Amino acid sequence: MIDLHTHTTASDGTLTPEELIRCAHEIGLSAVAITDHDTTDAIAIANDEAEKLGVFFIPGIEISAEYSGNGTMHILGYFIDETNDQMIETLDFLKESRRLRNPKIIKLLNDAGISITMEEVVEEAGGGQVGRPHFAKALIKSGFASSVNDAFDKYIKKGAPYYVNKERLSPKKSMEVILSSGGIPVLAHPKTLGIPFGDDFKKLITTLMDYGLMGMECYYYSHSREEFENYIALSQKLGLLVTGGTDFHGDNKPKIKLGVAKGNMNIPDDLAVKLATAHKDKVGVVKMGG
Ligand code: AMP
Ligand code: ZN
Ligand code: FE
Ligand code: FE
Repeated sequence: MIDLHTHTTASDGTLTPEELIRCAHEIGLSAVAITDHDTTDAIAIANDEAEKLGVFFIPGIEISAEYSGNGTMHILGYFIDETNDQMIETLDFLKESRRLRNPKIIKLLNDAGISITMEEVVEEAGGGQVGRPHFAKALIKSGFASSVNDAFDKYIKKGAPYYVNKERLSPKKSMEVILSSGGIPVLAHPKTLGIPFGDDFKKLITTLMDYGLMGMECYYYSHSREEFENYIALSQKLGLLVTGGTDFHGDNKPKIKLGVAKGNMNIPDDLAVKLATAHKDKVGVVKMGG
C-alpha cells in the first residue's frame, strides 16, 4: 500500500512532516509522497525521518494552475529537486500571491460583519503557509461555521461570496518548472476539472501531454468506479503513468485517512515503482543530454 498525495503543516495539513512519515510507517505504507501546496519546506525533514524508518519517500509538490473551466486544475510534481533555482523562484512567486490574497479575504469577511482577524488565521497555520483551510478553522472557532466543509460552502469556496482568487501559473508553466527541477508532472484528481469523460476531456489531456504531462492520478476518493476505470484505460492508451493518493490533510479533512482515504482505498505498490523508474529514466536522459 502507498500514498502519493499528502499535505503536512508546511501547507494546510495538520501533521508535521515527521508525524506524517511516522504515521505512514505505522500503517505499513511502503512508499509515501508529500505534496504540499506551493512549498517544499517539509521535504528535508521528512526525508530524514523516512531514512530512519525505512519508508520510501518521494519529494513532491502540488501546484494549483490557472484554469478557466468550471473546476480546478492541480498539477502534482514527483521527485522534484527542492534546491533547483527555478523551482525556488516559482514557489516564491506563488507564496507571494497567497500573501497578497489572504488579507483580501479577511477584508471581505470583515466588511460583512464576519469578524475574524488575520492573526487568528495565521495562528491556525501554526507557522506553515496560510491557506483557506486555516480560514475555515478560524471561522469555526469564532462560531461562524460548523465544520471545514460548512465554512467553504458558506464563505470561501470558488463561487461563494468571500472567495478571492490568487495569481496562478498556467498549466504549461507549472509543468515546465516541475520538469526543469527533475520532476514528473502528474494531473491531480482529474474529476475536479469538471469535464465529463469524453472527447473534450481527452483533448485537454493530450494538450497537457504536449506541455509535458507524464501521469494521471486515477486513484482518488471522489472518483466513481466508472470514472476510475475510464481514467486508467485512457492513461494506458496514452502512455501516462497511473498514480494515486488520498489527499490526506489530517484534521483539516477529518474523513480522509492516510493510505486508505475513506477506508477502502488500496493503491498498489507497483505504481510507486513505475514512477521511480520513470524518474530514473528521465534523469538518465537529462544526464546523457547534458
Ligand atoms: P488555497 O490553496 O489556500 O486556496 O486552499 C486550497 C485548499 O482548500 C485545498 O487543500 C483544498 O483541499 C481545500 N479546499 C478547497 N475547496 C474546498 C471545499 N469545498 N471544501 C473543503 N476544502 C476545500
Ligand atoms: Zn490542501
Ligand atoms: Fe488538489
Ligand atoms: Fe492536495
